[in-house]
Amino acid sequence: MSNIPHNLKVIEDRISKVKEQFQINNDICLLCVTKTKPIEDIIVAYNEGYRHFGESYINEAVDKIKTLKEMGYNDIIWHFIGPIQSNKTKAIAENFDIVESVDREKIIKHLNDKYPHENKLQILLQVNISHEEQKSGCSFDDIPKLVSLINEQEHLKLCGLMGVAKDTDNFDEIFSSFLRLKECFDKIKEDNKDLTILSMGMTHDLELAIKAGSNEVRIGSAIFGPRLYKNKD
Ligand SMILES: *Cc1c(COP(=O)(O)O)cnc(C)c1O
Repeated sequence: MSNIPHNLKVIEDRISKVKEQFQINNDICLLCVTKTKPIEDIIVAYNEGYRHFGESYINEAVDKIKTLKEMGYNDIIWHFIGPIQSNKTKAIAENFDIVESVDREKIIKHLNDKYPHENKLQILLQVNISHEEQKSGCSFDDIPKLVSLINEQEHLKLCGLMGVAKDTDNFDEIFSSFLRLKECFDKIKEDNKDLTILSMGMTHDLELAIKAGSNEVRIGSAIFGPRLYKNKD
């Protein structure tokens, strides 16, 4: 028996509690992160009403997206959230609706060049809020020039910012890194009307993220169980 419906309710309860506690009235999008998980799990969450799904490994993701489209699941909004290599930008631009992990000039240009449709690909700029060298994301200092570059592209639309906090028990440190991104978000929003998504918060820090102003949390293992392998593609 699948625990997925139960797990989704537990996460929704956590989201409701923190919204109530801090009197937050806007919707919080629950992005179901399904990397390494089978199509059957995606369908269970879909049947619970979820439409936003996040994937990180492009080859695996494209297989799942194509199969689900063939099965008639045409209203899923696919978010790419993994590190981006430039040789994967074509597959990402062709298959995803939103790319959350955009963090450098070359990737911006490649995604724009490879986007095959008439409308625009939705982009979130990933910021390295934890200041850890091995983490993806641009620096805070690079945000203005990357925002301008995205805005110059014919086929890209800047829709938000994304950040991954440090994996630590120091909640003050996590919270202040979220707040800093929220401040940036508010500032950029003054000149970018399409900036609507602030994607921060995972299983262990979603309360802090929502308190800091996140409106999208990305949750994987707390819904679908632990990942048994790490895909590399
Ligand atoms: C995998 C992943 C998640 C979800 O992580 P869990 O620990 O499974 O909840 C969220 N955000 C990003 C960027 C990820 O790569």
